[in-house]
Amino acid sequence: MKHLDPYRQPEVLRALAARLHDLPLPDRRINLMEVCGTHTMNVHRHGIRDIFPQNVRLVSGPGCPVCVTPRHSLDTAIAYARDPDVIVATFGDMIRVPGSTSSLAEERSKGADIRIVYSQLDSLDIARENPDLTVVFIGIGFETTVPGLAQTIIVAEKEGIKNFKALSLGKVIPPAMDLLAGDPELNIHGFLAAAHVSTIIGLKPYEPIAEKGIPVVVAGFEPADILAGIYSLLKQVSEDRSEVENEYSRVARPEGNPKAVELINTVFEIADSEWLGFGVIPKSGLIVRDKYAQFDAEVAHPVDVEPEVKVTGCRCGEVLKGLIDPPECGLFGKVCTPSQPKGACMVSSEGTCAAWHKYQGVGE
Ligand code: SF4
Repeated sequence: MKHLDPYRQPEVLRALAARLHDLPLPDRRINLMEVCGTHTMNVHRHGIRDIFPQNVRLVSGPGCPVCVTPRHSLDTAIAYARDPDVIVATFGDMIRVPGSTSSLAEERSKGADIRIVYSQLDSLDIARENPDLTVVFIGIGFETTVPGLAQTIIVAEKEGIKNFKALSLGKVIPPAMDLLAGDPELNIHGFLAAAHVSTIIGLKPYEPIAEKGIPVVVAGFEPADILAGIYSLLKQVSEDRSEVENEYSRVARPEGNPKAVELINTVFEIADSEWLGFGVIPKSGLIVRDKYAQFDAEVAHPVDVEPEVKVTGCRCGEVLKGLIDPPECGLFGKVCTPSQPKGACMVSSEGTCAAWHKYQGVGE
């Protein structure tokens, strides 16, 4: 029976895989990075790493927003959950992520009011229904989800919903890629850029990376998309070129989505931000502008946050930088599993450790 999805047809995938092996690649190790956590999951789900030429290594990058959030920011979310005057609203991927001594799931089991929402705007309904409490939305995400939070804050202002606040932990991806591009230890030869983020920001923000000599290719998430993206990267390597190319033109336009970018810029401004494993990356975070400070949880409803406790042995930071594969962490699959995660990389649906655990037949 013919597969209906054109991006998964076996004959198409076989042809794309064969093309990789026809390229006249240089006789040295070639390191490529898939930046996005959804790419990571699909690369493992479809066994894509196994069909590369032998000298090509694909490493995972920092494109899982929950994973790159530092532990003290998770502790701040947990501190809000412990505040009896607060209802925490969050996307589901945050709920089991471990902070220093607890998680949102643990706090919920102790009685904290934590609601899982499917859109940031749902938080406003909760705020309207609970005028005597403060609703704090945990705003973790990249350029893909931040426009939704910006829109929510604008609606809250227009409608005077004063008991809505956002814990603004948004980040932007290109500065992290730029940092990795210059890392001699990593020695990256090409980036597979995130599909959804690129639909918002377009291609231009990647140009400084290509100018450093590292090709960037935007690719979708289906197996054929990923293979086409890898082929474009390797073709550039074989031709000694470094350009920004778009293999996801059916969705991502070169100019991105200017309306979404305008929404982000209306409510947020760029600031330095700490990433787990990276430290502070200049101009990589999004903070709420003064004009909307009444909706900034940390300004309008500050909480005491417990001192951070480091997890001994967790190498999430090195995993996020592509320096090690998860099985190189001594805790992987032993004391750190999806049911008992020690780090966000094992519990997030986009986490590299979770992908290896689920699809590489190692661990539990
Ligand atoms: S396996 Fe667990 S402990 Fe090790 S790096 Fe991944 S999340 Fe951290």
